[in-house]
Amino acid sequence: MTAVDIIRPGEPRYRQVQHVYSARGAPAAVARVRTPAEVPEALAFALDAPGPFAVRSGGHGISSIATNHGGTVIDLGQLNSVEYLGRRRVRLGPGARWGHVARQLAPLELAISSGDSGDVGVGGLSTTGGIGLLGRRHGLTIDHLVSAEIVTADGRYHRVSETENPELFWAVRGAGANFGIVTSFEFEAAAVPAVVHTNLAFAPGHLPDLLQRWGQVLEDAVREITAFLYLGQSFAQATVVFAGDSIEAASRALEPFTGLPGVAGGTSQRTSYATVPMTTGAPHTGQQTARTRTGLVTHIDTDMAVRVAEMLASGGTDMVHIRSVGGAINDRAPAATAYAHRHQNFSITAVSTGPREVFDAAWEPVHALMDGMYLSFETQHTPESVHEAFPAPTLQRLRKLKDRWDPHHVFTQNFDIAQRP
Ligand SMILES: Cc1cc2nc3c(=O)[nH]c(=O)nc-3n(C[C@H](O)[C@H](O)[C@H](O)COP(=O)(O)OP(=O)(O)OC[C@H]3O[C@@H](n4cnc5c(N)ncnc54)[C@H](O)[C@@H]3O)c2cc1C
Repeated sequence: MTAVDIIRPGEPRYRQVQHVYSARGAPAAVARVRTPAEVPEALAFALDAPGPFAVRSGGHGISSIATNHGGTVIDLGQLNSVEYLGRRRVRLGPGARWGHVARQLAPLELAISSGDSGDVGVGGLSTTGGIGLLGRRHGLTIDHLVSAEIVTADGRYHRVSETENPELFWAVRGAGANFGIVTSFEFEAAAVPAVVHTNLAFAPGHLPDLLQRWGQVLEDAVREITAFLYLGQSFAQATVVFAGDSIEAASRALEPFTGLPGVAGGTSQRTSYATVPMTTGAPHTGQQTARTRTGLVTHIDTDMAVRVAEMLASGGTDMVHIRSVGGAINDRAPAATAYAHRHQNFSITAVSTGPREVFDAAWEPVHALMDGMYLSFETQHTPESVHEAFPAPTLQRLRKLKDRWDPHHVFTQNFDIAQRP
């Protein structure tokens, strides 16, 4: 007998919890925890039950691993609190969504850079990195993490911070899912009274030219600027955020972007950061089942620009997202967190709903130029991808910690660091 709320097939509310954003599922049980104290019990229940188990916070992961067929899901969606602790400190539950977090912090003129989607959950993003639209000014989401509480494989709670279990704190910031279930996160938010939020549409005559110029303009931009470029078969558009409240300074910083080839229109407004992450609040029905491939790169040189344009033109991918990293993200040493990629300036992600072989063939020439990878944008969890996500010294350190904190390999669902090619 368990006190945890177990939802099983056949109950009317089961339909609301069986699927996630990127997959339809049919778990035998969903253990919906109501307080952090119930997490050890939910874990024991999942480990006793037959079949696989999954951990779910927002359920908005790109890979489809937060549900399953015939196993158990530990659902943390109700642990969605946002508590202001004073002095810019904020405690978040893993089930809170980033759009909600941004709206709660806006009246305090505070923000935590997260990502471009407000539907994404705190738990998944804060255990891997957090590449957001304030990134070049304020770093990754995990760079603002001050402490966390985690239930490890033995069912025990641990507080992690620079002074409490510091090695586990290091591992949580990039490879968290390999070490346990994080039940709360304490962040130091940044003072962000306002931002200047610009959307640009392009009708590029020659895509490689736009891509190369885009890369150069971004690398040269002041750190207040962070920008994401989205390319499809018939569109190219960008979101550019200036992390400051001076319209004049923003206009100066934006000039090189509005001067890019093929700019066909745009809007710009001074606004609260809370309006930046796109939030739909739509229920999860497995509505987005695309595959993704992703990698990081330092420069978008001619070769890379041509290969990305050819990949799109081949029809082997439906969309490409180019997110800026760099700036403050690269102020941290590679060994500071388990997310170790601290010299690259761009994250490039291809998205496909077509056949896998066609997608793989289209991606390979781009992949060949990649230098590392952010695991949250990747749907393929092979041993090779684990090596791309974690450089050798990071992986070695993570594996040692795995032996200590999860010797029986309970947490293997998300980029299992024990896998070897
Ligand atoms: C439309 C869209 C846009 C995105 N944009 C960005 C972006 O701009 N920047 C960015 O960085 N990311 C972005 N992401 C990726 C996103 O950050 C990750 O997919 C993240 O894992 C989603 O978090 P979640 O809590 O909703 O995940 P879930 O689907 O709930 O969980 C995914 C996996 O994360 C692990 N996990 C979740 N919660 C915990 C926990 N509490 N403790 C330990 N492990 C846990 C588990 O392995 C789980 O299966 C985007 C995703 C989507 C779908």
